[in-house]
Amino acid sequence: MNTHPAMIDPFGRHVSYLRVSVTDRCDFRCVYCMSEHMTFLPKADLLSLEELDRLCSAFIEKGVRKLRITGGEPLVRKNILSLFGALGRHLKTGALEELTLTTNGSQLEKYAGDLARLGVRRINVSLDTLDAAKFRKITRWGDIAKVQAGIEAARAAGLKVKLNAVALKGVNEDEYDAMIEYAHGAGMDLTLIETMPLGDIDGDRTDQYLPLSIVRARLMDRWTLEDIPFRTGGPARYVRVKETGGRIGFITPLTHNFCESCNRVRITCTGQLYMCLGQEDMADLRAPLRAAKDDGLLSAAIDEAIGRKPKGHDFVIDRRAAKPAVARHMSVTGG
Ligand code: SAM
Repeated sequence: MNTHPAMIDPFGRHVSYLRVSVTDRCDFRCVYCMSEHMTFLPKADLLSLEELDRLCSAFIEKGVRKLRITGGEPLVRKNILSLFGALGRHLKTGALEELTLTTNGSQLEKYAGDLARLGVRRINVSLDTLDAAKFRKITRWGDIAKVQAGIEAARAAGLKVKLNAVALKGVNEDEYDAMIEYAHGAGMDLTLIETMPLGDIDGDRTDQYLPLSIVRARLMDRWTLEDIPFRTGGPARYVRVKETGGRIGFITPLTHNFCESCNRVRITCTGQLYMCLGQEDMADLRAPLRAAKDDGLLSAAIDEAIGRKPKGHDFVIDRRAAKPAVARHMSVTGG
């Protein structure tokens, strides 16, 4: 029986969703996410997979019901399946409702079957375009054929796949109709995401930012969008497309702040706990994790950190602001 009190933050929000970045490394270099020449953390700084398991398990003890493994690219971390295997025990006991993954899909062909066998039911695959040349340009290094083969492998393994696309002005804004047809034609939801000012990239973010309020209005010229109460526990708000029967999610950190219902915290691959994706405050959990074999110190450090979860982020994408709102890249805190 769970004897720990639930994690409730100062604003009465119940923290039940943990996202874990298992590596800051990635085999792509998406232009809105990273600069081409990134300096990654020394491997020695990373928590071991056993430590990540212990950390996640401590959060599950404290009431986390949904766990998302992310990165960087989680499937490039060596031996990553052993972490899924270990965490799967919490699915079996019912302590954890869902173990899920966000991936760029590059390694999915290899791993989809094992992920399904280990208890993963749903995954998010990031796909910003359907055009091979454009895909290469956005990801700098990616091969869309491999990603699409990965998506097919995931579907064949019985995984429910959701596609995530970042809305990029002048890059993929002419493709949403085609992406809706592709996703919904294969029974996949599609979620559109606004670019967030996280970390230095080589270009200018104001050039890429496309408010989803505009996208939604444009979609309504072609499709009938019906608001639905469907939620997956994350920040997306969904509509059903009457013509396809499929769903579109909108993640709008800039045009519509959704912090009032935030149930999430994030851990980096070095054991830093971020209580908000859009703020700098964090708590180091690696020291208390390593200081003792039992979880007393760790548990106290988590409670203390949840006690200062901020009310929300205040992202602004503004040409006058020379620096990103938050210095760290999405690959550090995990998307
Ligand atoms: N490598 C995996 C992937 O590609 O899905 C997981 C990590 S990636 C950082 C998670 C998600 O964050 C991706 O969908 C990516 O497009 C998105 N992302 C990265 N940087 C972003 C930014 N500055 N604003 C909005 N979304 C971003």
